[in-house]
Amino acid sequence: MPFRIYNTLSRRKEIFRPAKGKTVRFYSCGPTVWDYVHIGNLRTFIFNDLLRRTLLLSGWGVKQIMNITDVDDKTIRGAKNSGKNLKEYAQYYEKAFLNDIKNLNILPASKYVRATDEIKKMVEIILILLKKGIAYKTEDGVYFSIAKFPRYGRLARLAKQKLKAGARVSSDEYEKKSARDFALWKFKKPGEPSRSGSETLQGRTTWPSPFGEGRPGWHIECSAMAIKYLGLPIDIHSGGVDLIFPHHENEIAQSEAAFGKKFVKFFAEGEHLMVEGRKMSKSLGNLYTLRDLAAKGFDPLDFRYLCLTAHYRSPLSFTWESLSAARQARLNLENKVREAGETSAESFAQFKINFMEVAQNDLNVPKALALVWKSSGKEEILFADKIFGLGIAKVKKISVPSEIKNLLKKREELRSQKKWREADEVRDKILKAGFVIKDTPEGPIVEKS
Ligand code: AMP
Ligand code: ZN
Repeated sequence: MPFRIYNTLSRRKEIFRPAKGKTVRFYSCGPTVWDYVHIGNLRTFIFNDLLRRTLLLSGWGVKQIMNITDVDDKTIRGAKNSGKNLKEYAQYYEKAFLNDIKNLNILPASKYVRATDEIKKMVEIILILLKKGIAYKTEDGVYFSIAKFPRYGRLARLAKQKLKAGARVSSDEYEKKSARDFALWKFKKPGEPSRSGSETLQGRTTWPSPFGEGRPGWHIECSAMAIKYLGLPIDIHSGGVDLIFPHHENEIAQSEAAFGKKFVKFFAEGEHLMVEGRKMSKSLGNLYTLRDLAAKGFDPLDFRYLCLTAHYRSPLSFTWESLSAARQARLNLENKVREAGETSAESFAQFKINFMEVAQNDLNVPKALALVWKSSGKEEILFADKIFGLGIAKVKKISVPSEIKNLLKKREELRSQKKWREADEVRDKILKAGFVIKDTPEGPIVEKS
């Protein structure tokens, strides 16, 4: 069955297979560790995970690299405000991020790479770009000249006349309408402590380079790590849709201009988590973290379930009601697996075909979820959970003591004889023993209350 996924480069679904061998070389943009990640960020990391699990279930190996942005304006500002050195500050939030990932059953990347550990590779690429005359030095940094890369703007579909070649932007995030030369390297500001200054080596925020002391821009980080750990071309590069411009556009420009080879075959970007029609983001102040969800009694997997209910290319609106409904559905699915019977080999084989067909069709997880609700076999649910990642295999079958089973039988007999009062007395006995009776189309069953 072909695996089809929407490629932002062509704006259509394309058949995917790895460029070389049987392992997919997968790069996912990671978090900036200046605060706890919010559940909007986590929706994108869940999307990465669903994609990775579907690739695995399709029979490929996956090598996934993810960056950790531990030096940029935000992390430096945060460290300064909290009185910590940058390394200490960033690693606290990195640890919190890895913990959130684990609680969401997201498979860990093959390698997480910190920006501050890869300065050498970034400097190497910037030097190539300077030598080729594609990058140039100014008073405050080294910039990429978008006029020197004719394909600039292709991913984001920018109109050529909108490009402001020669105009510069040093900020890492900016709007499409101001596409400009962007910073590859930002020079140490006057008065900023350097590696030889008062700060310890660990706390440093600038690094030496042949073109001057400073720190990397955000975009160069991902090019350096992707190329170093995966090689060109990368099979799939993922992130959230807000990264298409400028981040992914700039990554393509730097990498392809430096090495003259295709950077990425497939760009896959997930849509946003929304709150009242607006993107969840720190700047809008409309965010929740997994800690906020836990404070209201929600399990991280309730949020994971919620993410399964929307296609990754559709915005998903977050409300507490939708999260409650997701929790209920997840618990119902756990009960379903407790009560599920055996599946015949034929129907399991058919289920796998149907399930993989929707999963491999641009990751139609909501439809795959609907298939599971329609099926009744335990094996089928467990198979589907290889992608869903809800930890269904850990759900324990409740063991019902034989005396309770006998009481249930007795109640049924009494009911068939229309002895309602006696039947209710038996039901109360069952309740007192810590079990409830649930009437299902297949007859009554007992569950732990
Ligand atoms: P950042 O730490 O800001 O670089 O973001 C980490 C990841 O979260 C990136 O892939 C973003 O595209 C993604 N992201 C940010 N906000 C949202 C949101 N509201 N919904 C989904 N993904 C988001
Ligand atoms: Zn990135």
